[in-house]
Amino acid sequence: MKPKERLAIPRQKPKELSPSERISSFDEVVSGFDHDMAVLEAERCLQCKKPTCRDGCPIHNNIPEFIRRLREGDVEGAYWVVRETSSLPAVCSRVCPHEFQCEGSCVRGKKGDPVSIGMLERYLVDWMVANDRNIHVACGLPKDKKVAIVGAGPAGMTVAYYLAHEGYECTIFDNLPVLGGMLTVGIPAYRLPRDIINKEFDALRGCGVNIVKDVTIGRDKTLEDLRSDGFSAVFLGIGAHSSRKLGIPGEDLEGVIHGVDYLRKINIGERLHLGKKVVVVGGGNVAIDVARCALRTGSDDVFILYRRTKTEMPASQAEIHHLEEEGVKIEFLAAPVAIHGKDGKLDRIECIRMELGECDMSGRCRPVPVDGSNFMIEADAIIPAISQRVDHTALKDMDLKLTSWGTLDVDPDTLQSSVPWIFAGGDAVLGPQTVAKAVYQGKIVAESIRRFLEGEDLKKDREKWEPVGGGKKKK
Ligand SMILES: Cc1cc2nc3c(=O)[nH]c(=O)nc-3n(C[C@H](O)[C@H](O)[C@H](O)COP(=O)(O)OP(=O)(O)OC[C@H]3O[C@@H](n4cnc5c(N)ncnc54)[C@H](O)[C@@H]3O)c2cc1C
Repeated sequence: MKPKERLAIPRQKPKELSPSERISSFDEVVSGFDHDMAVLEAERCLQCKKPTCRDGCPIHNNIPEFIRRLREGDVEGAYWVVRETSSLPAVCSRVCPHEFQCEGSCVRGKKGDPVSIGMLERYLVDWMVANDRNIHVACGLPKDKKVAIVGAGPAGMTVAYYLAHEGYECTIFDNLPVLGGMLTVGIPAYRLPRDIINKEFDALRGCGVNIVKDVTIGRDKTLEDLRSDGFSAVFLGIGAHSSRKLGIPGEDLEGVIHGVDYLRKINIGERLHLGKKVVVVGGGNVAIDVARCALRTGSDDVFILYRRTKTEMPASQAEIHHLEEEGVKIEFLAAPVAIHGKDGKLDRIECIRMELGECDMSGRCRPVPVDGSNFMIEADAIIPAISQRVDHTALKDMDLKLTSWGTLDVDPDTLQSSVPWIFAGGDAVLGPQTVAKAVYQGKIVAESIRRFLEGEDLKKDREKWEPVGGGKKKK
């Protein structure tokens, strides 16, 4: 096909449930491409000599190569190209913020729509499953060394994946009754169906990974206990699950529930009815997921308060579009200043109008309150969703070095902590970030732990194997 013809193909749009169909269920909203759409979309790729899409992918998937194979009809080969660099393609293809990563770096995006890389990756996995192909890598021969992994999120899953495939005996401990970390208790099922996560854990179990739920490290078992139980190394992939408070009067009233706490409850299966009118505070993906879940659990008047404008919202455009389609309104340039109530229960939220003040180097402008602009909103519930911090319960018996942000302080090349047999990665190190970045760090840690267990130098020739991407420049 000539380049001109490729340029003329419009970006393919997947089918979606209509807003009225989707707000009464947690069914997946976006369907995958069918074969014809996938091939047509693959034809849009220009196969750039310097593939900037690959640099934009935190785990550095070989995007041009998998697209080339896909359009030549080798779908299975294309899948295995992705699998070389990704431990979780079924997950990443659905939830990665592609517009800020691979698609945001696609050359075609400069003058139009980028190639729909996420949907193409998803097609490969869907095709493998639909055609009954094995989507998992063969397991390694057992080795006589044990590793404990604290946290069953994507970072912990990735460490277990790579170490189990090397034959090390891995045990994952998680404090929740469900597995997957924020994949399960954060991201709602309408964006990431649970059977996809469950299959990943089945595969890990199939490679001998032991999985222990409902155990809190630091409370039910300490890090030292793990050491005494014969684990030679420990990975801390505990995420960032502690909600940041608004810090305004009235935050302890009934009817205030913080974003990740609310999502955790409903994702574990608790039935929560927040009332008719719900106000969500924040502008990121968490706020959007909270608002869309509140609609799906029976609240019919849900809106978001955001202190900047739409341009500054960190959430992805696709998510904002879905949210607005479902009828959630966003009140821009407004922030809560106090929560008022009667008999211990909130009934009104006092807000103030904001305007944008000085902008920083990145162009992000500081919201400044407008004096005397206070106004009241009646509400049954308020859900602050303004970021999370690392919960330090797991670290109780161990004097691990922390950063001023309260994240774990680790060696940037090896992700080894200040205690040599303890490694950390994912949100526990980066603060709230993304699945792909957690996967990337999981890969680094798996290699560090392997070297640690084999008595090798953790730092030697790191650049020769280290996966590029994840914000790191190729050396
Ligand atoms: C609502 C929401 C939506 C998101 N949407 C997206 C998205 O669309 N795309 C994207 O890329 N990212 C998204 N993210 C971010 C992404 O989910 C996280 O960056 C990623 O899950 C971090 O992985 P992790 O393995 O480091 O930690 P987590 O996934 O948080 O897993 C940590 C696990 O450790 C467990 N744990 C913590 N302390 C202990 C302890 N003491 N003992 C035992 N277990 C413990 C936790 O319960 C949890 O299961 C979203 C996050 C949220 C909250």
